[in-house]
Amino acid sequence: MAFIKINKENFFHNLSQFVEKTGSKKSVGIVLKDNAYGHGLELMAQLSKEFGLTQAVVRTYAEAQTIQPYFEEILVLGDSAIVDAQCSFTLNSLEDISKAQKGAVVELKVDTGMHRNGIAVSELEVALAQIEEKELILKGVMTHNRSADELSSELFWQNKVFENLKKTVASILSHKNIRFHSFNSASALRLPCQNEDFIRLGIGAYGYSELPDIYDTLDLKPVLSLWANKVSTRILQKGERIGYGGTFTTPKTMTVSTYDLGYGDGWMRSSSLQDFISCEKLPFLGRVSMDYVSLESEKKEVCIFDNALNAGKQLNTISYEMITQLSPKLKRYLV
Ligand SMILES: *Cc1c(COP(=O)(O)O)cnc(C)c1O
Repeated sequence: MAFIKINKENFFHNLSQFVEKTGSKKSVGIVLKDNAYGHGLELMAQLSKEFGLTQAVVRTYAEAQTIQPYFEEILVLGDSAIVDAQCSFTLNSLEDISKAQKGAVVELKVDTGMHRNGIAVSELEVALAQIEEKELILKGVMTHNRSADELSSELFWQNKVFENLKKTVASILSHKNIRFHSFNSASALRLPCQNEDFIRLGIGAYGYSELPDIYDTLDLKPVLSLWANKVSTRILQKGERIGYGGTFTTPKTMTVSTYDLGYGDGWMRSSSLQDFISCEKLPFLGRVSMDYVSLESEKKEVCIFDNALNAGKQLNTISYEMITQLSPKLKRYLV
C-alpha cells in the first residue's frame, strides 16, 4: 500500500518560525482536525508535545479524547459542550448555548463577516447573559477571518470589527480573564502576533501558505510526502493502450510499472483528465484506478508528491484538500 513520510525536522522548523512570531509556545494552538490535515492525528499530537506545545484545536470531541494525553488544553470546534476539565467547546450559535451542559468550559464564536459560524455581533449581549444563566464557564471569545489568505484589505477591516468587539465584551463583563483569538495561519503570516492571546495554527505548521508570494514572510517546509510501491513491471510496444478506457497510448516502446496508489487511498481520479506529473517528474499514464496508477519507471518506490501546494496546482485545488483527503489507512512513517 502507498505510504506517507512525515518529516519531523520540517515540522519543528515551521513551529519554531511561528513561535518566534508569538514569542511563546503557550500561545500556539496546533490545529489537528481532520486527522491532522491528513498527517495522522496521534503522530502529530506526539510531535507537538515533544516540541513543547501545550494546546491543540480539533473538530470533534472524539478527536480531543484521542489526544488528551499529549496536551494541557484542547479547543473543540464542532461538538456540543460537555464538562471536561481539559476541553473548551466552541459555541457557534445561541442554540449551542442552550444545548451546552451546565458547567462546561466554552468559547463564544462571533461572526465578524465570514457568515459561516458564530453568533451575530448584535446577539452578543443576549449570548453573554445566556452563558451566565446556564452556568457555563466562558474561557474565550473568538472569530474566524474569511480572507486572510487573499490579497486585499479585508483582513484589516475584519480585525477592526473584532477589536471593537473585544471592547464591548470587556465593558459587559467585569472579570478580565477571557482570551480573545481570531488568527489562523494566514493571519499569523501577515500580521504581528506578539499581542495575540492564542493563535490557531493549521496549514502553516504543515509547511504551506496559500498566500500570494508577496506575503512569503516565513520560510515554511512541507512536512508530508506521499509514496507508492511498485506492484509489477511490463515492457509495452509502441501503440499499446494503458488502463481503464485505454486513454493513454504508448508513443514508443516503454517500460511501465503499476504502483499501489489510487483514488481509494485519497488520491484524486481527476488527475486522469490532466497529466499529473510526480515530484520525480514522472507523468501518470492513463486513468487512475481505485488502487493503482501506471508510471514509466522501474523504481521500487516512487515519491508522488513532496509539496502539496505544487501538486494541488496541477489538479486545480489547494494544499489543504491534497493532504486532508489522504486516507487514514495509509501508514505514516516518521523520518
Ligand atoms: C481550520 C481552522 C483554523 C486553521 O486554519 P489554517 O488556515 O489551516 O491555519 C483556524 N480556526 C478555525 C476556526 C478553523 O476551522
